[in-house]
Amino acid sequence: MTTQLGLPEGIQACLFDLDGVVTKTAVVHAAAWKATFDAFLRERDGADFRPFSDSDYDEFVDGRPRADGVRSFLASRGIELPEGTPDDPPDTRSVNGVGNRKNELLLEKIRTDGVEPYEGTLHYIDAVRAAGLATAIVSSSANTRDVLHSIAAEQLFDVRIDGVVARERKLPGKPHPDTFLAAARDLGVEPSRAAVFEDALAGMDAGRSGHFGFVVGVDRVGQTDALYAHGADRVVKDLAELGGGA
Ligand SMILES: [Mg+2]
Repeated sequence: MTTQLGLPEGIQACLFDLDGVVTKTAVVHAAAWKATFDAFLRERDGADFRPFSDSDYDEFVDGRPRADGVRSFLASRGIELPEGTPDDPPDTRSVNGVGNRKNELLLEKIRTDGVEPYEGTLHYIDAVRAAGLATAIVSSSANTRDVLHSIAAEQLFDVRIDGVVARERKLPGKPHPDTFLAAARDLGVEPSRAAVFEDALAGMDAGRSGHFGFVVGVDRVGQTDALYAHGADRVVKDLAELGGGA
């Protein structure tokens, strides 16, 4: 059964990242981060600031919890900010303040433009479920519920481990494997019997260090080699390539 889904024999569950795998929101996140960090750097360094780049996004931010993304990118530029508190206003010079600014821009964009799913992914999830496999959504995003609701996809997942659940359970985010491991545990499936679907390098790292049965890298931006280098077993541009009759 699973081989028709492009998965090894014995896989019982599929764990899907949200942004960039299920929904076309990775680009929206990237744009919100760039606007936030460029404004921050311009204010700090003046007009000749070094802008936030695509590779900064891939390396330091994509897939990670919001505050971790702020910390790791700023650290790469030798900048350290106080943590602040989660309700810091978006103009506060703190890790939480910068993160809140990014989230404000993200939600603004989502409100204006809406959210679009990847049809290939939705068809694939239908096929996975029809084959009797369990499914989970595993995202660092604290907005996961709203985003899934907006595309009427909540019922496609048996388990949800998102930014909100991770905070409640004190799970470290990607690149740590803990959120994926929690999803497998909630589904009652051994990690070696679960497949991870991710578009972020941090997600590949999580799949590898969690010893999952299969790690699928979803390449939306031309980073196939990097996805393999970070532990993908297979890289596709769209989940339709895996089969499932989509
Ligand atoms: Mg992603």
